[in-house]
Amino acid sequence: MSLLISLTATLAAGVTGRAMVDGEEKDIFRSSSGRRAPMMVILLSTLVVLAVTGAGPSVAQDRHSAQRARMVADIAAMARETGGITGRPRLGEAVMTAIGRVPRHRFVPLPQESLAYENRPLPIGEGQTISQPFLVALMTDLLDPKPGDIVLEVGTGSGYQAAVLGELVAKVYTIEIVEPLGRRAMQVLAQLGYRNVEVRIGDGYDGWPDAAPFDSIVVTAAPAEIPRPLIDQLKPGGRMVIPAGRSDERQDLLLVEKQPDGTSATKRLLPVRFVPLRRDRGAR
Ligand code: SAH
Repeated sequence: MSLLISLTATLAAGVTGRAMVDGEEKDIFRSSSGRRAPMMVILLSTLVVLAVTGAGPSVAQDRHSAQRARMVADIAAMARETGGITGRPRLGEAVMTAIGRVPRHRFVPLPQESLAYENRPLPIGEGQTISQPFLVALMTDLLDPKPGDIVLEVGTGSGYQAAVLGELVAKVYTIEIVEPLGRRAMQVLAQLGYRNVEVRIGDGYDGWPDAAPFDSIVVTAAPAEIPRPLIDQLKPGGRMVIPAGRSDERQDLLLVEKQPDGTSATKRLLPVRFVPLRRDRGAR
């Protein structure tokens, strides 16, 4: 009952000025009074839905943005704790803002939704996982993303890392080997309006030659060794962040910096655990 009363109060405030209708702010009484009745019907029916479900889109949105703000604080704390070994005790402002904007709950299966803003990896089906938010933030930060950059991701998974990059750079190309995951990621990214993210189904070991060279490359599944084609597709001066190692249990997160002369320097950053980078059957 109190919900209904407070919502009615929202309506009362709305009719004297502007109100949210179908996600758009509208000036309710700007035009002739003939438009009042239909607008009232829309508002009242929205209220009925709100009263029945107990939480409208804006209530849910507020809850999620508060949860995201907490997650951003957790990530900042973990960055401080690990700063001694990662060399990045403070992650860039733009990266943190991007993490604070992307609705991670939309990238996880429904049963995981209530855990979406915990700082931990979660299962996304097909035996795969969405990475821990701290790692997504750190790996993004290590790429030093700039607004004009063209970035390749290998291992789309849920599409979450691609969305975070999509907030920061001009264009993201991302490859997923498991078709149902790639299809689902395409759908969610399109629904959320990430028009600068292109998803392809295939083996990312070979990169994306048609779109190369890239300002940076992020790999979110672990090969035993850094795939040569990915180094080749990096621009001179470009950066690649990749977990690599021979064990499925433990790999090292590596930062590869391609020098202007084409050689590359690799730094070992911290021990991590990612799903293995698979190879297409019949591939080299
Ligand atoms: N970046 C993802 C994390 C996904 S986990 C996210 O934000 O959710 C790693 C993903 O890499 C898995 O979905 C796995 O299927 C995929 N993968 C493994 N080997 C691959 C390969 N050779 N090419 C492309 N994707 C691969």
